[in-house]
Amino acid sequence: MEFHVCTLFPEMIEQGCQTSILGRAMDKGLISIDTTNIRDFSTNKHMKVDDYPYGGGAGMVMQAEPVYAACESAKQKMGGQARVIYLTPQGRVFDQKMAEEFAREDHLVFLCGHYEGIDERVLEEVVTDSVSIGDYVLTGGELPAMVMIDAIARLVPGVLNNDVSADIESFHDDLLEYPQYTRPAVWHDKEVPQVLLSGHHARIEEWRYEKSVERTAKWRPDLLEKHKKNTCIQ
Ligand code: SAM
Repeated sequence: MEFHVCTLFPEMIEQGCQTSILGRAMDKGLISIDTTNIRDFSTNKHMKVDDYPYGGGAGMVMQAEPVYAACESAKQKMGGQARVIYLTPQGRVFDQKMAEEFAREDHLVFLCGHYEGIDERVLEEVVTDSVSIGDYVLTGGELPAMVMIDAIARLVPGVLNNDVSADIESFHDDLLEYPQYTRPAVWHDKEVPQVLLSGHHARIEEWRYEKSVERTAKWRPDLLEKHKKNTCIQ
C-alpha cells in the first residue's frame, strides 16, 4: 500500500515513520510512505506559501496554487487516482472503522495544513475526505497524518507479525480489549488471574469477553450500547 503526504514539514513524516513496525513494513516493501514538500511548488521568489486571510483576522492561510500543484504531483506519482485526505479539526472523526475502510485502498494522499488552514477553493477541488483525529486543535496536520497512517498500515496483511491480532483488539465488535498479562505470574504480590493459567481455552475466551464488557461499560458506555445493539444483547 502506498501512502503519500503533502506537507510543509516532510522531515516530520520521514523521521516519525521510519522506526519500529512501520519502518520494518517499509523495509519489507509492504508499504511505502513518501512525501511532497508543498513549498517546492511555491510561485513566490521567497518560497512563501501563505498569505493574509481575506476579510482580516489572525494568522496566515496556505495558498491554493502550491497546495493544488503538490497534490496533483502526488496523485500523478500514484498513477493519477487516489483519495486525498485533508487533515482538519472540522472533518469526520477518525475511528477504527474508517481505518478499515481506508486500508482497502491501494494509494492514499494526505494533505497537511498549517497556520489557520488552507484556502477553501483548493480544498473544494482536490479533497475527497476531510478527517479529524479528535476535538482539539493542533498546530499542523503532520501528527494526524501519522496517526492515520499508523492505524491503517497495521491493517495491511503482513505488517503485524500475527495477522489475527488486528482482529481481536479494542474496537473490534465495539468492545475494548480485555486486560493482558505476561510473566512473571506474581508481581508486587499481584497474581495473574488463575483462569489464564488453566489452559482451558473456552473458559479463557469467556473470561476475556466478560472483562471486555466490564471495562467497556466502565470507560466507554457509548461503545457498549453499540455492541449490545449489534449483538442483540439486552
Ligand atoms: N483554523 C483552523 C480551524 O479552526 O478549523 C485550524 C487550523 S490548525 C491550527 C492547522 C492545521 O492543523 C489544520 O489545517 C489541520 O491540517 C491540522 N489540524 C489541527 N487540528 C487537527 C485535528 N484535530 N485533526 C486533524 N488535523 C488537525
